[in-house]
Amino acid sequence: MESTILCYHKVGPAAEEGRRLNIEPNRLRSHVGFFSRRKYRFLRACDLSVPWTPRTVCFTFDDAYVSTMFHAPAVFEEVGARATYYAVSGRVGKTSDWDGEAARPLADWDTLLAVQSRGHEIGNHTVNHVHLADLPIDRQKFEIGQADADLRSRGIVPRSFCYPYGSHNEDSVEILGHSGYGVAVALKKRLASSDDSRLSLPRIVVAYSDTLPMLLYKLFLKARIRSRKPGPPYG
Ligand SMILES: [Zn+2]
Repeated sequence: MESTILCYHKVGPAAEEGRRLNIEPNRLRSHVGFFSRRKYRFLRACDLSVPWTPRTVCFTFDDAYVSTMFHAPAVFEEVGARATYYAVSGRVGKTSDWDGEAARPLADWDTLLAVQSRGHEIGNHTVNHVHLADLPIDRQKFEIGQADADLRSRGIVPRSFCYPYGSHNEDSVEILGHSGYGVAVALKKRLASSDDSRLSLPRIVVAYSDTLPMLLYKLFLKARIRSRKPGPPYG
């Protein structure tokens, strides 16, 4: 069984948010509309912990930018769907200092709580937006466990985790398992399969230039070719 798990970042007009890791609200609406018209079930990432059914799609948004939290939730609610947003607990209400000169404001606690209360999921994206695979196990435990505690202390209930930059190793997976997380998402440019570990699910990054036809090409042709088991090319 497959599931389409998509990874977005900012959602806003290019004049404000630029093009890098951004998508304009109407383009997001066209993506959501496609899956809605075809009667896909929209899952939050936390919903991926249960046995999968055919035709599911999961929209995730990394970093919980102000622009994303302003524009995206309503796009899903228009079709009765919900999505998942990953907050960096040490940067809530500040800026994305990992974006360099392109740093943009991140949603504050009140905004995260308001979006959660509308049925969306706010997930754990570490304290400091680090490459977990580069860190010793104690630092990884801090980044995962402290972020969990920070979110909970503010009333956010994180039920899934997102690896910054997709970076993780066996230690990360083990810590998450012991911390009670049933789902963690990474980046692998292919559709997720029910054979994948739920603590290392691949997502496909959606870019500014991904018009609906381009997205469909990426998802249903390119990603499918990548999903195939490696073997002799002309065997
Ligand atoms: Zn991120």
